[in-house]
Amino acid sequence: HVPDQDLVEFVLQHAGERGQRPALVDGVTAETVTYADLPALVGGVRAALERRGVRAGDAVALLAPNQPRWAIAFYGILAAGGAMVPLNPAFTTGELTKLLRLAGAVALVADEECLATARAAAEGLGIPVTGLRDLTAAPSLGALPPATGREPQHPAVIAFSSGTTGQPKGVVLTHRNLVSAVVQHRGIYHVGPDDRFLAALPFFHIYGLSMILDTGIRQGATIVTLPRFELRRYLDLVAEHGITWLHLVPPVALQLLSEGATGADLSSVRHAVSGAAPLDAQVATRVQHRLGVAVGQGYGMTEASPGVTWVPDDGSVDCPPGSVGVLVAGTEARLVDPATGTDTDGEGELWVRGPQVMAGYLGDDAATAATVVEDGWLRTGDIARVDPGGVWWVVDRLKELIKYKGYQVAPAELEALLLEHPAVADAAVAGLPDPAAGEIPKAWVVAAEPIDTAELLAWVAQRVAPYKRIRAIEVVAAIPRSPSGKILRRQLRAEGGTAALPG
Ligand code: ATP
Ligand code: MG
Repeated sequence: HVPDQDLVEFVLQHAGERGQRPALVDGVTAETVTYADLPALVGGVRAALERRGVRAGDAVALLAPNQPRWAIAFYGILAAGGAMVPLNPAFTTGELTKLLRLAGAVALVADEECLATARAAAEGLGIPVTGLRDLTAAPSLGALPPATGREPQHPAVIAFSSGTTGQPKGVVLTHRNLVSAVVQHRGIYHVGPDDRFLAALPFFHIYGLSMILDTGIRQGATIVTLPRFELRRYLDLVAEHGITWLHLVPPVALQLLSEGATGADLSSVRHAVSGAAPLDAQVATRVQHRLGVAVGQGYGMTEASPGVTWVPDDGSVDCPPGSVGVLVAGTEARLVDPATGTDTDGEGELWVRGPQVMAGYLGDDAATAATVVEDGWLRTGDIARVDPGGVWWVVDRLKELIKYKGYQVAPAELEALLLEHPAVADAAVAGLPDPAAGEIPKAWVVAAEPIDTAELLAWVAQRVAPYKRIRAIEVVAAIPRSPSGKILRRQLRAEGGTAALPG
């Protein structure tokens, strides 16, 4: 059941009752916002935005690294009736200009650290820029911000997808989408006032954002913010604040296994979740041993607010390492054979339907119609399969399957295998064009010990069917990833466009 409330009201309605408990803590400055303070701070942002002419339905962009004020501005923008547009503080002026225009933003709120780029981008578009500190400086007098007059079907967030497969798309998520997501997550995660999250994943991406619009604040947990991931600081904050939940992405999971994390005190952690990209079963198992608690994957996408499947935190469903759990409540799924377009019991493209599915892509009706089809089914673009018991597995992205002589090769499977080799610290696989085979699998690997590439190719060849063999390999210093932790295969292909032979 999804209540007909707007997101601010739904998430903050119990805030006042939680008194002096910390809601948000800045991991760098230790600045703390209590639950008692939160509604008035949100109300202050609302009043400040209204004074600056923001009206219900306006899109307001926010450009800032993670910090408590980010969350206050977020709820303040919604409380003013606005649609919030989270942006990556690392964007260049050109990137910002493009997305501000696409979002139709009427105002830009920027961290003081990003003001120069923000002004350069916004001025050309005639959009006023407000500093984040300024905006969040004065709490309102009333305890709870009055109702915003926003209807469940009105846009709350315009979130850009990661841009793994092309340009990031402006995903319109409504109040109803996001309230549904909170309700769905609450059915899977049992978070309470004694939980402490460490928000090191960027709030401008839906996974990071879900930490503050999700069960976290609604259930009274404490959220410690970190502006950018840095292993040492991350580990120190876990110990210092007794973090109980880890929100991981695969590269961060790998870092927890690295030398830099040896001896770190992670004993406060009672559950860990990994999302945004495939977490290899072997890595999942090793992290589980390191933490002494379960590491459950979540699978989702910006278009689904973002949850589609999740591993319950209470062990109620047996989800093997590498699986992505069960469908969240109120969600239907189909598997569609990409070749025939008909439903299949085996591997196929996952289509999902539920209250968390986006309203559409902003300003792109054609892309919306191609993605949300036939009575609200969202085509995820991912190949998946399901066990008889209802546990899901993501095979790979449809677009990233390598077509070798007509056979399909999943990069994620080869990456998982490479990670089992002791000399490999990190790995990425992508298809390179090849005149004879169509495409061939190439690997990029980061060395944990000196790598003999010919030996590594032979090692892989012994473990996979001939058509899946890696045909070229390159040792690199690091695997390029997006801020949400995804391998940037387009970048690897562009840089390593020739199928360099091993040696
Ligand atoms: P774009 O759509 O702009 O190309 P993107 O799809 O990477 O970018 P996101 O919405 O951030 O943008 O990511 C959603 C995608 O991430 C999913 O479609 C899926 O491919 C991948 N993903 C998320 N969680 C998992 C997971 N647990 N296992 C495997 N893949 C995952
Ligand atoms: Mg996508």
